[in-house]
Amino acid sequence: MEIVEAKEIIRDMAMAGVTGMSFTAGEPFIYFDDLLEMVDLCREKNIYTRIVTNSFWATTPEKTEHMLGTLKKRGLSQLRMSCSKWHQQHVPRQNVLNAARGCIATGIDYFISFVTDFSEEDDEYESFFRDNKLKFFPEPVIYAGRAGSLARKEIFTDYQENRCTMNPYLAPDLSMYACCDAGSHFSNTDFFLLGNLKDNSIDLLFRKSETNPLYNCIRSIGVTAIASFAGMKARDIVTYRKCELCKKLFDSPETLKILQDSSGLELQRWVR
Ligand code: SF4
Repeated sequence: MEIVEAKEIIRDMAMAGVTGMSFTAGEPFIYFDDLLEMVDLCREKNIYTRIVTNSFWATTPEKTEHMLGTLKKRGLSQLRMSCSKWHQQHVPRQNVLNAARGCIATGIDYFISFVTDFSEEDDEYESFFRDNKLKFFPEPVIYAGRAGSLARKEIFTDYQENRCTMNPYLAPDLSMYACCDAGSHFSNTDFFLLGNLKDNSIDLLFRKSETNPLYNCIRSIGVTAIASFAGMKARDIVTYRKCELCKKLFDSPETLKILQDSSGLELQRWVR
C-alpha cells in the first residue's frame, strides 16, 4: 500500500470516529519511515497507536533506543512484541529484551505477546520474561495462516463464555473484516468479511460490523453458548480454544445457516 493511500485511510478512519489503531500483520518495522508518518498523523487526529512487531530491528540497545525515541516523539502510544518458540527461530530473544528496555527508557508503554501452545518447552520463555521482569501476556497460538499446519494439541478448557470484543481488521488489499486476522481465514463462508473499502465507505463497513446480529451475539452471549445452542455437546466444547470454536461454528455453511436463521430473536434470548 502506498503511504499516500494509507494516510488517506487514516484520515477517513478518524472522520468515522476511530480512536485506536494497531499496525500489524507481517512486520510493520520494515516500513519504518512510513510508520513515522502514519503515527504522526494518528497523533494529529487523536488516535491511539500501537505497533505489533517481532523486534527483528532491535539488534543493539543503542539502535533500539534511537528508533523508539523517534517513534515516541512522533506520538507512538504502545509497542507490542510477539515472542514464541516459532518467532525466535528467526529473531534472537535478546532483541525482544532490547525492545522492552528501549520502551522503558523512552517512556513507551509495551507488552509482550507470549504465543504458546502450553507445552513444557515454552517454560523457558516464561522464565526469561520473569527473570528480566518483563510485562507479558500468554496467548494461545491461533491455528490459522502459517500456524494452520502445526499439530493441534488437544486441550480441556473450563466451560468459559468466550466472549469476544472483535476489533475490525483492514487487510492490505483493503478488504475489511469484522474480527482480527484469524477471522480472514474463514474461507468457506467469509463470515467476517464486511466488504472492501474500494467499493464501500468506512462508515458503512463499521455499521455492518456493529449491527450484525450474530457478531453481536459473539460479543454479548459468547461463542460457547452459541456452540451449545447450535447443538454441540458440552464435552466437545471444552476441547476447543476460543477462535477454533468460532471457526467450527461460523466457517461451516450448514451451521452458519442455522445460526443466521435464529439470530433474530431465538439465539439472542439464549441467556440465563
Ligand atoms: S473468537 Fe472469533 S471473533 Fe473472536 S478473535 Fe477469535 S475468530 Fe475472531
